[in-house]
Amino acid sequence: MIEPGTGLKNTMVLFEKARPMVGMTSIGIAQAALDKAVAYSKERRQHGKPIGGHQLIQGMLAEAATELDAARLLVYRAFNLIDHGVRSEVQSAMAKWYATEMAVNVTSKALQIHGGNGITKDFGVELLFRNARMMPIPDGTTEIQKLIIGRALTGINAFS
Ligand SMILES: Cc1cc2nc3c(=O)[nH]c(=O)nc-3n(C[C@H](O)[C@H](O)[C@H](O)COP(=O)(O)OP(=O)(O)OC[C@H]3O[C@@H](n4cnc5c(N)ncnc54)[C@H](O)[C@@H]3O)c2cc1C
Repeated sequence: MIEPGTGLKNTMVLFEKARPMVGMTSIGIAQAALDKAVAYSKERRQHGKPIGGHQLIQGMLAEAATELDAARLLVYRAFNLIDHGVRSEVQSAMAKWYATEMAVNVTSKALQIHGGNGITKDFGVELLFRNARMMPIPDGTTEIQKLIIGRALTGINAFS
């Protein structure tokens, strides 16, 4: 039974669990976009070779893969704390803002790698980009997550 007067605290604990979930959804979206970008970069040819053989394309793929892994590790850390019954306000905030903004970046890069085809509905990356662009908003926007982290670092509440 929930004790009277503990509603706010219970809601905040609920957010600690929901935020890594939004992060994990973002990771799924970004992974799908990266998989599509890698496959397309091996098929599409320009200037006599697959575009995946051009250094700037490989750079985008490498950045996307690294950002994805970093987000995944942040989300796993938050879930691990939650599994062990440890409060994870800051770690969940870090996982949420980083993973959701990562998905915006990675799906944008995947769309870029698809060139003009990326903005059509035929290749699926525009849908992934639109889905990713929504993720930094629910369950506390990116700005709110950063305020939570900043408050923990400084001890100063900058919300108002
Ligand atoms: C897909 C989706 C699902 C949702 N599901 C739910 C749900 O199930 N239940 C529910 O209650 N709500 C839900 N929401 C609403 C969501 O929680 C809010 O949209 C979100 O909290 C932002 O609030 P707002 O839209 O009123 O924007 P505002 O609070 O008006 O914010 C607008 C902008 O100002 C920034 N901002 C606000 N305050 C500050 C500040 N102090 N410092 C710096 N920047 C600030 C925000 O980060 C944002 O960029 C959902 C939203 C989406 C997109």
